[in-house]
Amino acid sequence: MTNQNPPARIRDRSEIKAIGLLSGGLDSTLAAKLLLDQGLTVIGLNYSTGFCMNNFRRALDRPDQASHRVRNEALRAGSDLQFPVEIIDVADEYIGMVMNPKHGYGSRMNPCIDCRIFMLDKAKQYMKEVGGHFLFTGEVVAQRPMSQHRPTLRMIEKETDLDGLLLRPLSAQVLPETIPEKRGWVDRNGLLGIHGRGRKVQIALAEAYGIKEYPQPSGGCCHLTDETFSRRFRDRIAFLNGDQIKSEDLVLLKVGRHFRLDDGCKAILGRDEVENRFMAGFRNRYWTLEAVEAGSPVTLLEGKVTDPLVELAAAMTARYSSHRDREGVEILCRHPDGSERIVFSSPMAEMELERYRI
Ligand code: SF4
Repeated sequence: MTNQNPPARIRDRSEIKAIGLLSGGLDSTLAAKLLLDQGLTVIGLNYSTGFCMNNFRRALDRPDQASHRVRNEALRAGSDLQFPVEIIDVADEYIGMVMNPKHGYGSRMNPCIDCRIFMLDKAKQYMKEVGGHFLFTGEVVAQRPMSQHRPTLRMIEKETDLDGLLLRPLSAQVLPETIPEKRGWVDRNGLLGIHGRGRKVQIALAEAYGIKEYPQPSGGCCHLTDETFSRRFRDRIAFLNGDQIKSEDLVLLKVGRHFRLDDGCKAILGRDEVENRFMAGFRNRYWTLEAVEAGSPVTLLEGKVTDPLVELAAAMTARYSSHRDREGVEILCRHPDGSERIVFSSPMAEMELERYRI
């Protein structure tokens, strides 16, 4: 049960359990730090939605590139500041919200308001289970266009039924007093009043606290805010009933070059060895095409495959192979049941290719 009525005088603030949404970015890290400094017990929650770019970069595993060292930033923040962090997989449930957000999308396919509500609902449930006292986030008033305007922050609080139990330590002094402040669980004077998009205060604070390792906010971490991903996602919805989409169907939207061949079929071509290796793992599920004895993308055919579509995809594969300057290229086409055939194909011209690109 959530403990909303602790003793009037708190002798030891470590009795107070604050549960925070923790991305591991600078804002949520600082929010946790402000509460840790007041002696509270802090637990970080990091929800794995299936749309986190860093998680996917890690899954692709590019040992030759810097991304090989991509960390889980929430775990890193917890380890640096010495508080526990739980990673919770919500991907299957999250996709239902993404397909049908009550408050709509941002400039891409990002349903930021519903996303916050979704995560806070989950965190509220967690808080009840562990006997937490209140929730906190790293949100800053007016920092982000969609979800952090003052009325939106208020509306999110109401929709999650967290009235007064949601503290935003970085902006607390410009927001109404919350229950944790009123009850003395947290000292309002030790919180901040940051407002707006600037990040100077946060960066200065990070320096003062000796927090050196944190991801740059401009780095982007959510596929749903990415233009290319969003275009592919819209295409997926348009050509496949949204209700049928599962989180695993979205994995391939994150890799390769995508081409819609007709209403029921698309081709995905790997862009490098790492993507090719990843896509080859889908051999037993989809048709795969590769140029013979050449540097070649692995091409997947997703959907209803016909002979003319195999030939179309073979021309695309030839275009991206190392034999693209030849008149004809041998393409090995493999059915998911393991049967194979060779198609001799002319590399597709650039202009024609663009007609199909998603
Ligand atoms: S950017 Fe992505 S993770 Fe962040 S609030 Fe929006 S939808 Fe959620």
